[in-house]
Amino acid sequence: MPSTASPTQLIDRFGRTVDYLRISVTDRCDFRCVYCMAENMTFLPRADILSLEEIDTLAQAFVALGVKKIRITGGEPLVRKGVLGLLHNIAALDGLKELVITTNGSQLSTMAAPLKAAGVKRLNISLDTLDADKFKAITRTGDLHQVMRGIHAAKAAGFTRIKINAVILKGRNHEEVCDLVQFAIDNGLDISFIEEMPLGVVAQHDRAEAYYSTDAIKADLAQSFNLLPCTENTGGPSHYYAVAGTSARVGFISPHSHNFCGSCNRVRLTVEGRLLLCLGNEHSVDLKAVLREHPGNMPVLKQAIVQAMQIKPESHQFNIHEQPVILRYMNMTGG
Ligand code: SAM
Ligand code: SF4
Repeated sequence: MPSTASPTQLIDRFGRTVDYLRISVTDRCDFRCVYCMAENMTFLPRADILSLEEIDTLAQAFVALGVKKIRITGGEPLVRKGVLGLLHNIAALDGLKELVITTNGSQLSTMAAPLKAAGVKRLNISLDTLDADKFKAITRTGDLHQVMRGIHAAKAAGFTRIKINAVILKGRNHEEVCDLVQFAIDNGLDISFIEEMPLGVVAQHDRAEAYYSTDAIKADLAQSFNLLPCTENTGGPSHYYAVAGTSARVGFISPHSHNFCGSCNRVRLTVEGRLLLCLGNEHSVDLKAVLREHPGNMPVLKQAIVQAMQIKPESHQFNIHEQPVILRYMNMTGG
């Protein structure tokens, strides 16, 4: 007989427990990074995106189903009006261990302290280069100095273990990997290097040509640093190393060269309320439709989430040598 007890855990067909949710709270952004967005992006109409109340309800449902960690992302999450109130509510959910954010840092000089007060535990800040001109070229609209002020404000607000995310592209910033690690060491930060993922069609570079592998980055770093593998398993796609003689950790997120699907513990909620079961596949469930057809009905919402686990794919299918099969951009997806 099937159990009639309400589930309190999310487990997929391959026995993986899903306890980590990433929520994209907006597709909008004040930057236009070349690997993330087209130069002239069309953003979604307001009626198509989840309201803050809907995001709050979904977060409640996921935490009731055993989600322990939520990452808020986007687009740029800190440009969404009212985001601080949402963060405050999510941070207070009983059972949630960690509320964290990925941000481009542009708003942190004023928002770091309020984020800390709202209950955000950790920040990932994206920074691909230390050169102001290159920064402008990669982000198209960003200002490096503003982001630097943001990083300092985050430290001053008391955030610890801040992590820099750097997407490395051959010919654009690959020669800066050692400088970026030194920057992390000097400022008491961690850093993760990310291989570019083929999401959406980008015009400015050929993704196969711009591919710079984790192994190439490691070889470059080995010239200046002694990287010691960390035994601690974060349950995520990053492999971490300690930089000998420092407190800094260096992570590598390598969707092409080191597939990480076997231990995947995460799902993503897009800004349109689609629950994406895998970053590299289109398998999804429209939770916005469930919410809007059954307003206030938590059992129906939770049931839809539990059932969605049955279509979580075993692994992703990225191939940088082909046109992307995944046509959504990273800002829609919530990277
Ligand atoms: N706007 C915020 C930021 O930039 O940190 C949060 C959203 S952004 C989509 C999240 C992360 O995804 C950033 O670190 C960004 O560098 C990364 N990203 C964007 N497009 C990517 C791509 N095509 N491949 C790999 N990483 C990507
Ligand atoms: Fe904006 Fe982040 Fe995408 Fe850059 S990576 S365009 S900052 S959402």
